[in-house]
Amino acid sequence: MKIDLSKLSRRQWLGVALAVAGSGALPVRAFADDDDGDSRGGTSGILALAPDGPSARVVVVGGGMAGATAAKYLRLWGGAGVAVTLVEPTPAYTSNIMSNLVLNGRMTVDQLRYTHDELAVRYGVTLRTAAVSGIDAVNRMVTLDDGSTLSYDRLVVAPGVEFMPAYGLTAADYESRTPHAWQAGPQTALLKQQIDGMRDGETFVMTIPLSPYRCPPGPYERACLVADTLRSTGRGNCKVIVLDENAGIQAEAHNFTRAFQSIHVRADGSPIIDYRPGVTGIMIDPVTRVVTYDNGAVTLNAAVVNPIPPHRAGGIGSGSLDENDDGGWFARTGLNNSGIEAVSPNFGRWALVDVRSYESTAVPGVHVIGDASSCGLPKAGHVGNQEAKICADAIVRLLGGGQPDPAPVANSACYSPITGSTASWLTAVYQFDPASSRMRVAANGGSIVGAGAVEAGGISTRNYNQMFTWFNALMGDTFA
Ligand SMILES: Cc1cc2nc3c(=O)[nH]c(=O)nc-3n(C[C@H](O)[C@H](O)[C@H](O)COP(=O)(O)OP(=O)(O)OC[C@H]3O[C@@H](n4cnc5c(N)ncnc54)[C@H](O)[C@@H]3O)c2cc1C
Repeated sequence: MKIDLSKLSRRQWLGVALAVAGSGALPVRAFADDDDGDSRGGTSGILALAPDGPSARVVVVGGGMAGATAAKYLRLWGGAGVAVTLVEPTPAYTSNIMSNLVLNGRMTVDQLRYTHDELAVRYGVTLRTAAVSGIDAVNRMVTLDDGSTLSYDRLVVAPGVEFMPAYGLTAADYESRTPHAWQAGPQTALLKQQIDGMRDGETFVMTIPLSPYRCPPGPYERACLVADTLRSTGRGNCKVIVLDENAGIQAEAHNFTRAFQSIHVRADGSPIIDYRPGVTGIMIDPVTRVVTYDNGAVTLNAAVVNPIPPHRAGGIGSGSLDENDDGGWFARTGLNNSGIEAVSPNFGRWALVDVRSYESTAVPGVHVIGDASSCGLPKAGHVGNQEAKICADAIVRLLGGGQPDPAPVANSACYSPITGSTASWLTAVYQFDPASSRMRVAANGGSIVGAGAVEAGGISTRNYNQMFTWFNALMGDTFA
């Protein structure tokens, strides 16, 4: 099918992005707002934006997968009159997606870095290198950690996640001894170093928190890659023990079960991965690397421990991992109203939003996208990119005096490397469910009753190669 991108409306563009994303052919080259079919996109790299749209100030908090996409598409679809400021503390974003491939040496952390320069140069997004430390939702103003303030007409909040107190570990433990590496960066490099240092016969223990957590297939993918790395480097007598707090594998159950039982096996057929679901009461000694669970009934001696702690929207706590944390900027704004995903004893974990606009149901004028929101979609980078487009479209409509799309559709696509040369994938289309006011998986034909995500029919090298096309297209659509 040949599509003339210059003739598409915003709504049609969302549909095309959904359709081609699964095929790994998401167009990277962006184009200007075009509800009347007249493309204003340039070819030189600097876009001429529509001069006749609404005038407004939008501040976007967080330049990760969701925030960077929102900033770009607010400019593209809003036009020159929508001034967008992106507030992000780090000069370059490190992608979590593909970061498990650092562990087997296929990629480096440096290769996963993306700056926001293109958003400024090509789309005219104003960049502020700072962290938001407070939101005054009444006077529509945010405070930055350098003491300055920014006024907004609409605020988009996309801070990702922060990690919660668990397993008796401190923030310093994760940074120096028992890395979670669930936020790609120095901990990813540390975990790789620890895996590289394992001797044949030693044990790797990882933990998986209760859902919802970021990237449902990610932990199982990691277990596969660690097992593959150990076996392919002459350490096939090692064990990879996976302690899952969930009752079973949370995504791609068929392919991961196959991988655990028949791909990652020793010459005698015995499995390297020992998957243990429904585990409770995990405690970890970061010095001795002794792991206990089921209230001390089971003890494991590990050479490397990789605990993925439960997480919640970024900024709910003060970042201390202290049980008595009295709340950070996200919680002080009242955004953590959580809805049905609240399981934290101290705070609601996520922001409940109206999924037609991603506007918080608790705080008017503030939209929450990406992992921080609670909306029925999985917490994933591809999904954050989709949520950002629905949100940007809704904001542009609202600024122009209109209403958000009453029936948004979103797609989720994800590739999971299983070995150093093969992968599986998972995809689903979600639609707005008026009965629950959340996004639900849609089956072919539009029914949402009983529909589920679809996983690859097999694990293959073809999937592995397509994974890089998908990844590059997604990152190009987000940051360039
Ligand atoms: C190992 C691993 C593998 C994964 N693989 C996949 C995959 O294959 N496919 C997929 O779709 N997803 C994958 N994910 C999930 C994906 O990375 C996340 O779902 C995605 O990054 C969420 O996007 P986000 O914008 O909500 O948060 P992030 O991408 O984390 O971005 C949040 C941004 O907000 C900034 N920020 C935080 N606090 C503030 C503040 N106070 N002020 C300003 N800025 C702030 C941060 O610096 C950060 O840049 C994976 C995750 C992991 C850990």
